[in-house]
Amino acid sequence: MSNVLLARMGEITLKGLNRGSFEVQLKNNLKYRLKKFGSLKIFQNQSRIWIEPAEEDNPYFASENDAKEIMKAVTQVFGIVSVSLARKFEGGFDEIVSNTKEYVTELLENNPDYKTFKVESKRGNKAFPMNSPEICTELGYQILVNFPDLKVDVKKPDFIINVEIREYNYIYSGKMMAHRGLPVGTSGKGMLLLSGGIDSPVAGFMMASRGMPLEAVYFHSYPYTSEQALQKVIDLAKIVSGFSGRMKLHVVNFTQIQLDMYKNSPQEMLTITMRRVMLQIAERLALKNNCKCLITGESLGQVASQTLEAIQATNEVVKMPVLRPLIGMDKQATCDISRQIGAFETSILPYEDCCTVFVAKHPKTHPHPEDVALAEKDLDIEAMVEAGVNGTEVIEINPFD
Ligand code: ATP
Ligand code: MG
Repeated sequence: MSNVLLARMGEITLKGLNRGSFEVQLKNNLKYRLKKFGSLKIFQNQSRIWIEPAEEDNPYFASENDAKEIMKAVTQVFGIVSVSLARKFEGGFDEIVSNTKEYVTELLENNPDYKTFKVESKRGNKAFPMNSPEICTELGYQILVNFPDLKVDVKKPDFIINVEIREYNYIYSGKMMAHRGLPVGTSGKGMLLLSGGIDSPVAGFMMASRGMPLEAVYFHSYPYTSEQALQKVIDLAKIVSGFSGRMKLHVVNFTQIQLDMYKNSPQEMLTITMRRVMLQIAERLALKNNCKCLITGESLGQVASQTLEAIQATNEVVKMPVLRPLIGMDKQATCDISRQIGAFETSILPYEDCCTVFVAKHPKTHPHPEDVALAEKDLDIEAMVEAGVNGTEVIEINPFD
């Protein structure tokens, strides 16, 4: 008997003719994401992917507890719905009974409060002499006989014993949920405007979940924004890249540009002017790096710069689509996702990103196009954008080594 991982695919299985290329991408992403867990065999059968250690003594498969880390890594690969650690063995119904006994014994050792169970089964191998209902009934009976303290509860059991009969037999109980979506790499690349806040890491996560690889750009105004603020953005990029794959983080030296704007443009228009310049720099970096869209964490009405008029004023300076996956989302819902992906604790660290330092006390919330033109009349925008692009440092973010 050996331990293997059983991962389930989601939306990909609805794909038609191009399903094959989605599956190949998913397997490649799994291989890449699981590199550090030793040599593995990954194969797929219908809507399932099996992950097995190539060598018998792989410590990550030794027990339910040892497997947690590799299972968590599997859940971070988009396209996967859930994953279970399963026991794999050969033989007929007698072997299924003896292995189940051993399995339930261990399960009860780890969960002494378990009192009720049910059996579910799938029979992929139609040559097996019993059908699924017969397997469930007979195996349920054997468990009751061998574990007299247990009872069957088909509605709300404490645990379910799953049996799958294919080329080999598998038993498992329980599963770890993953994040669904489509495999990263099945869509074009996006440039994420990543700040140190709660929203933009979630926006990146959401686009990656639609198959989009990412690069990120951060506008840094040192010393107005601290070294820690940059470190926080690097940490957030690492967290997002756990899902999206390794990425480049472009750090734009934004200090001089912001000081110029501060001096030569009206206070109440600063936020809009600054965002217009940011978007143009981001678009140029995107073009240079083969990204086909920009991504922000904006949500309608959340702050002064996120009204429709403000969005219109910033949007009009770029040609690329600007994707705003959080536009219709409630802050609480965004925070929930932020917690789920492990970004929240980092996002709420108190180091400010540049926007909060240079913000006006009374920003214009519904700017007219004339306000915008007037605000930029004493600024050499092209020179600012050019300087921003040229003053960019690239940091490689790779969470898998
Ligand atoms: P977040 O929580 O992502 O910081 P926010 O609610 O603070 O968002 P804003 O500060 O108005 O909202 O920023 C809106 C979006 O603009 C951010 O979600 C992010 O995509 C981008 N952005 C803001 N500041 C920066 C920055 N310094 N570098 C890169 N992108 C930024
Ligand atoms: Mg912010």
